Amino acid sequence: GLEVHLASRPSGWPTPDNFRLVEVPVPSPGPGQVLVRNTVMSVDPYMRGRMNDVKSYVPPFRVDAPLDGGAVGEVVAAGEGVALAPGQTVLHGLGWREYALVEARGVRPVDVTVAPASAYLGALGMPGLTAYAGVVEVAAMKPGDTVFVSAAAGAVGSLAGQIAKLRGAARVVGSAGSATKVAYARELGFDAAFDYHDGPVRESLRVAAPDGIDVYFDNVGGDHLEAAIGALRNHGRVALCGAIAQYNATEPPAAPRNLALAIGKRLTLRGFIVGDHNHLRDAFVAEVGGWLRAGQLRYDETVVDGLRNAPEAFLGLLRGENLGKMLVRL
Ligand code: NDP
Repeated sequence: GLEVHLASRPSGWPTPDNFRLVEVPVPSPGPGQVLVRNTVMSVDPYMRGRMNDVKSYVPPFRVDAPLDGGAVGEVVAAGEGVALAPGQTVLHGLGWREYALVEARGVRPVDVTVAPASAYLGALGMPGLTAYAGVVEVAAMKPGDTVFVSAAAGAVGSLAGQIAKLRGAARVVGSAGSATKVAYARELGFDAAFDYHDGPVRESLRVAAPDGIDVYFDNVGGDHLEAAIGALRNHGRVALCGAIAQYNATEPPAAPRNLALAIGKRLTLRGFIVGDHNHLRDAFVAEVGGWLRAGQLRYDETVVDGLRNAPEAFLGLLRGENLGKMLVRL
């Protein structure tokens, strides 16, 4: 089977040269192991951080070894003592390869009669829980709040905006990188949306939320965060989810320059990592699953075909080529 290795570490924007396609023999599962043929894998912004050799909340990828990340696939064979039948669809952490040899405890069966397998990498998976935890717990959104979401046409942002609206936000505003994405956010029920290329975020946000905001779901950082700090009302809350504007930067960010406003406004700015919010998983599955079944919540995917195109899919994600969740079909 094929797998994608990290060939070298990027400085600034990654390029296809940082990846290498490698053919390896298909392994057999030992005791407690499962062999999975991957069918869909996720590319995610956090993987950019893992290409650097720095200590973080997830270890860096190793050079000349396969990358990893969320994937779903079908069990091909199970080793001794594993209660998983061939054909069962499972979620696990060894993407970026056609065949994954996974420890059985690192594998979660998923129900493809509830939703397609790919949904467990998006709306019903890690990005969905991120959106849910960020809105509900980290930002503690209350009915009647005005909410601003950046990267609003992406996997997390598109769900965060809809979840805010479904939980009673008075007004939800989004920003995204193209006219198509702005129109998409409006289709999803965002009350207003703007293209952040059309002018300073501060000014676009003032037009979209003239009375200010109570919550900012930050996927971007930089000038978006600065604009939000300026627009937040007293006791406003920020869920610091991501800072994608600086993931490929070689210089420290220039913004936010107005952080001291947080004092007088009594703001709460709270960073979070989805992995710390597993206690919300049952509530998330019940609530978001219910909205999906009722047709009240929508999710979309941008699907790239073929493992050999996974590096391009990942680079495309960083460039904003996705609407909804970016995925690779194997
Ligand atoms: P998305 O589907 O939102 O894809 C990333 C998007 O970021 C692109 O489509 C692009 O859209 C936008 N983008 C890229 N560069 C910039 C820029 N310079 N300024 C503004 N927008 C930019 O990815 P995810 O939904 O998976 O992730 C969204 C954010 O959430 C990321 O910051 C990610 O790191 C974070 N995250 C955090 C988690 C946590 O536990 N804290 C868990 C999961 C995700 P556009 O065309 O609009 O620019």
